[in-house]
Amino acid sequence: MRILTGLQPSGTLHIGNYFGAMEPAVQLQDKGDAFYFLADYHAMTSMSDATTLRENVQNLAIDFLACGLDPEKATIFRQSDVSAVTELSWILSTVCPMGLLERCHSYKDKIAKGLDANHALFAYPVLMAADILLYDANVVPVGKDQKQHLEVTRDLAIKINDRFGEDTLVVPEAMIKENTAIVPGIDGQKMSKSYGNTIPLVGGKKALRKLIMKIVTDSTPVEDPKPTDNSNVIALYKLFADEAAVQQMIEEHQAGGFGYGHFKQQLFDAYYDHFEHVRTKREELENNLDYVNEVLAKGAEKATAEATKVIDRVRKAVGLR
Ligand code: ATP
Ligand code: MG
Repeated sequence: MRILTGLQPSGTLHIGNYFGAMEPAVQLQDKGDAFYFLADYHAMTSMSDATTLRENVQNLAIDFLACGLDPEKATIFRQSDVSAVTELSWILSTVCPMGLLERCHSYKDKIAKGLDANHALFAYPVLMAADILLYDANVVPVGKDQKQHLEVTRDLAIKINDRFGEDTLVVPEAMIKENTAIVPGIDGQKMSKSYGNTIPLVGGKKALRKLIMKIVTDSTPVEDPKPTDNSNVIALYKLFADEAAVQQMIEEHQAGGFGYGHFKQQLFDAYYDHFEHVRTKREELENNLDYVNEVLAKGAEKATAEATKVIDRVRKAVGLR
């Protein structure tokens, strides 16, 4: 089984990325042949500073390793190190109806948030399809926001196979964990790097606590019972605490007498503890950048070898040689 997923170096890794993609990726690296990449071509749809992009790539590579991805088990690489992906993206574009992209929520959401409506942002799902199809991936662990893009990927693979031969591309499946499908940000909307509503995995303790304290809640007075159904604090606490602790927080909401600050402090403690090992490992890796770069160089080599097989097969099928 070939497993593949990617994360954009478009900002600092946050707990939505962690639970939606990173944690499943760590678990799956023992279950099959895993390919995990840093999506730097994709990040260019939301950022335009070369120095920041390079810094973000390095930081995300450190995060991959600090979170437990193991280069002995998984191929870890930079998307742009295998430029055949842009060629496959072009080939897929030729079978991609405009309407398919026009329906994509992620594009519409990002435009609504004020991102530039450039062609790359619009065509993003086609490049993402190429990312997946170039490695004959079977399973793609992602957050729920990517469900529609995975459907586009499957559609495009099926169209290519219908037109050019059944065995041209492997049709992949999304793997979405229901309990962590969409992690809310501090404003209650989907946590996203490009929305500025994230809770990063690591950072200074004071600054992180301040962020957690900013999570949007309603203005129920301290002494009154508090709603539990759409509570961001409870939704986030569920990611870190066991069932009994979550139940207790729910009961304390219902009883009244506790302010939101009390619940946020509990959330902060659980969250901060959860990533202790990532912080420690991160510090180690920051002092060993040669190793990090070596991992990416080896990953690029392995990824290129796999991608070359697939792009050759596709080129032949579509009549490019
Ligand atoms: P951007 O705003 O630049 O799109 P992002 O925060 O959405 O960044 P991506 O790099 O696009 O992060 O996504 C990487 C992975 O993390 C994808 O699998 C995506 O589904 C998952 N992911 C992102 N945000 C969340 C979230 N809030 N909850 C669950 N999974 C998420
Ligand atoms: Mg995203």
